[in-house]
Amino acid sequence: MRLVGRASVVIIPPMTSSTACAWRVAVVGSGPAAFYTAEALMKSDHEVRVDLFERLPVPFGLVRGGVAPDHQKIKGVVKVYEKIAASPCFRFFGNVRIGSDLTIDDLAAHYHQICYAFGCESDQKLGIPGEELAGVSAATDFVGWYNGHPDHRAHHFDLSQTRRVAIVGNGNVAMDVARVLLAPPDALATTDIAEHAMPVLRASAVREVVLLGRRGPAQAAFSPTELEEIAHLPGLDVVVRPEEAELDPLSAAWLAKDGSRSQERNVRNLQEHAGKGLGSNPRKLRCRFLVAPVELRGTDDQLRSVRLQHMRLVAGDDGTPRPLPRDSFEDLDVDLVFKAIGYRGVPVPGVPFEAKKGIVPNVDGRVVEQPGSTVRTGHYCAGWCKRGPTGLIGTNSLCAKATVESMRTDHADGRQLSPTHGDITQLLQQRGIDAVTWADWQRLDTYERRQGEAAGKVRQKVTDAAEMLRVLRSLRG
Ligand code: NAP
Repeated sequence: MRLVGRASVVIIPPMTSSTACAWRVAVVGSGPAAFYTAEALMKSDHEVRVDLFERLPVPFGLVRGGVAPDHQKIKGVVKVYEKIAASPCFRFFGNVRIGSDLTIDDLAAHYHQICYAFGCESDQKLGIPGEELAGVSAATDFVGWYNGHPDHRAHHFDLSQTRRVAIVGNGNVAMDVARVLLAPPDALATTDIAEHAMPVLRASAVREVVLLGRRGPAQAAFSPTELEEIAHLPGLDVVVRPEEAELDPLSAAWLAKDGSRSQERNVRNLQEHAGKGLGSNPRKLRCRFLVAPVELRGTDDQLRSVRLQHMRLVAGDDGTPRPLPRDSFEDLDVDLVFKAIGYRGVPVPGVPFEAKKGIVPNVDGRVVEQPGSTVRTGHYCAGWCKRGPTGLIGTNSLCAKATVESMRTDHADGRQLSPTHGDITQLLQQRGIDAVTWADWQRLDTYERRQGEAAGKVRQKVTDAAEMLRVLRSLRG
């Protein structure tokens, strides 16, 4: 959806002596990688001017639309981004979709360098029968829905008849979804959770969430703190089958040689839970291992069960334990399945895309036309669209710094674009695009916080992009 700009007066801070500026950079995206790129650029040169372009009217990417609402401490990282945005060398252009509102050629005509930091906006598919059944959803849709992301607000979730949910994958997204499903609703009500999510969670009948890991406990992808956090929820037992908590000889050797402290801690925690049995609490988080879904089964297009194939682990080419199917199956009755098997990049028109990996092909952050081919001068990438959807928020800081090192070197060597135009605001105005400025966002931010205060929560998000624009136009005065 594109929100065409309309008649209101947009006051975008002018770029100080823009055409004279020796180093102008456009960053596409406004999540962690985009802000860390801006920060590293501005630290490396006081003369650089950085413009961030975001398709939504609001900034912060997955920090706003992905981080779980009960993880407000993690969301506190936006304070860092607010400091970055306060620099006179920085501008924000929200509600501007690169690839349609502005093309890559438009950016190339205005900037010396372009850095793509648009993340991975879609989800991976399982590719098994039954994926289209009602009751099967991408975890990313549920996450976006409870976080009030404009792209996901229209999904419909009804948990009132749902007792058992299976989540495919055992990464941190799986853990976030499990926690939101199993936490007492009151613990979420005071957060910035989307208003539409609370009645659904209050009416939830979910008693059991089953995490389906295709490998063993040593390869669980969640952070130990996530398991520890969920284990502390009131009225909940973490249940692990003792035979699945046992390490096979390959995993034991791999853990001893290559395992991280986190992986060791996960194994310890899981084995402790395995020793506690079923427990007596009404709600259960079951962590299953060495099982992979091979079919989602339903009647009348409605999911009823998931067929699981048992796995064993064998050493991959690099020695990492990989799952290999055994000739053994089980059926698990479930009311809902969430696929939490990772995000996937979406191509942006005009930007090279490596479909197999779902990323922008690059060498050290320098965009190449395709893997192994020539560098596209002046084009860079950072964050998930550079390296794939892995790592925590802070990982993007290191990733952005590495890209900026390439950008800085190329700028110093004169390997950059040759923009023929100065300030981009003229073009935006010509096209009638109502770009959202940082000052606009600050007004909307204050508005959401005040609405939240009145409702007894941290923030009441505006979840519809058109409504965001309507509100911020009214706040412009
Ligand atoms: P992830 O960490 O990559 O986990 C994906 C999970 O899906 C893994 O367990 C993986 O198993 C499994 N999987 C992949 N393909 C599968 C298939 N075809 N069949 C069955 N299982 C499959 O991804 P994520 O949970 O989406 O998280 C993305 C990134 O964001 C991660 O770096 C994560 O740490 C981060 N994140 C952090 C937080 C937080 O800090 N609280 C919250 C959310 C996300 P294998 O390991 O066997 O491939």
